[in-house]
Amino acid sequence: MTTATTTDVEPALRLPPAKLFIGGEWVDAEGGTFTSENPATEQSLCEVAAASAADADRAVAAAQEALDGAWGKTSPRDRGKILWRIADALEARTEEFGRVETADNGKPIFESRYVDVPAAIDALRYFAGWADKIHGDTLAVQGPFSMAYTLREPMGVVAAITPWNFPIIQAMWKIAPALACGNAVVHKPASNTPLTALKFAELATEAGLPPGALNVVPGRGSQVGRRLVEHPGVAKISFTGSTEVGRGLMKDAADTIKRVTLELGGKSPNIVFADADLDAAVKGAYNGIFYGKGEVCAAGSRLFVEKRAHDEMLEKLIARTSRLVPGDPQHPKTRLGALVSKEQRESVLGYVETGREEGAEVAHGGRAADVDGKGYFMEPTILTGVDNQMKVAQEEIFGPVLVAIPFEEPEEAVSLANESIFGLAAGVWTRDIGKAHSVAARIKAGTVWINQYNWYDSGAPFGGYKQSGFGRELGSAALDYYTESKTVWVGK
Ligand code: NAD
Repeated sequence: MTTATTTDVEPALRLPPAKLFIGGEWVDAEGGTFTSENPATEQSLCEVAAASAADADRAVAAAQEALDGAWGKTSPRDRGKILWRIADALEARTEEFGRVETADNGKPIFESRYVDVPAAIDALRYFAGWADKIHGDTLAVQGPFSMAYTLREPMGVVAAITPWNFPIIQAMWKIAPALACGNAVVHKPASNTPLTALKFAELATEAGLPPGALNVVPGRGSQVGRRLVEHPGVAKISFTGSTEVGRGLMKDAADTIKRVTLELGGKSPNIVFADADLDAAVKGAYNGIFYGKGEVCAAGSRLFVEKRAHDEMLEKLIARTSRLVPGDPQHPKTRLGALVSKEQRESVLGYVETGREEGAEVAHGGRAADVDGKGYFMEPTILTGVDNQMKVAQEEIFGPVLVAIPFEEPEEAVSLANESIFGLAAGVWTRDIGKAHSVAARIKAGTVWINQYNWYDSGAPFGGYKQSGFGRELGSAALDYYTESKTVWVGK
């Protein structure tokens, strides 16, 4: 691990070397290096190794070697112990990992320190507990001398491909269950945010994970990512990212009939009825869109408010939002950091412009924000006068931009909510418990929050309906996606 000094953050961040992590050690990449930038300062953080397709092949070979060797021979209970030790090691370095995550992504240290790293630790511990409880069944088969049972076996080499918005969380939602089930992992982190993934692989090895059980190969999705998807030695792809890339990935995976799980984009409805606790709903709507800079797959980016509460709700929401000012993400009081990159901010600002052209009103924000003259900051933004058919109501903006749409009846709210290609999450705010459950049942989404928003737990499955993907992460449901079931028949 090299120690690099940044001019913007003291003490120095502990950044990984410009190497790949393969077979339990740092190795040079054939693909050269690329620069990781701090989006809050526009300064380079460090050089990162860029894996080539051949490097991806090396990582797959190292993972297979681990399965054929020490890792494959590790008992389920010992796998659990190792995962638990990794969690302890990460917990001891929460601050360090949090600061690097914030420098790489631009998210407030408040989030990295108190949510992202702890959630990653929690996923490790949750799946550590499962490692020795994954088993098949004995089956009540017919026939005088027959019996049959099922085994649940690891799939083999799992390629985890992750996005930039929650780097260490997304990584751990894949790595922890994959390892608990006895697979070996090749992780391809997003190019914008590869640093905690590299640091984590070293930490895991130091904590006792056998070499090759986890390998990390940053690089271009179209090269190293694609190679992993097409590689015949990779049994399964666990992908989180955009619907567009997921669509192509599914096609690429078809040639080898690869197991695939896809956690994709969203445009989640947050529905507020007039009988709700409006102050709680305001807080929920605010956190639903501005937490994580709105770069959140499940962001409550479409706010539907019952007409008779609409103006009061919007007034309160705008008042609260006007106190949210972007600032230095490493400052403990900052609650809105920098967007992940220049391109991302341009794209988000472009959507605000599109909204204006479509006839929406910018009720708050809408512009780039100035924080000491540098960084990709943006004002928290609320668009009103929006129609659900507008581009800003249908496409994932992936930034701190909320569109507000009024409705009259519960039926209308449900059909507007479901008028979307996405189905990742939704929120419902009402004091009427019957209405809450009825609406939750009719919304086509993998997660529905009633009178809360953006809550997660390692024990609660998460994933999409429709073009938000398929498969589930977290909970016991995740184990099905990292194991194969084998039926064994026994004659006399
Ligand atoms: P992205 O789709 O551009 O990239 C995701 C990952 O895929 C990156 O590591 C990228 O390098 C890689 N990749 C790109 N092209 C590839 C290819 N052809 N083959 C294999 N890999 C390839 O997404 P992003 O911009 O990093 O992240 C934002 C997106 O992720 C948003 O759409 C967001 O909704 C989604 N997301 C979904 C969830 C969820 O759980 N559903 C969670 C977080 C983010």
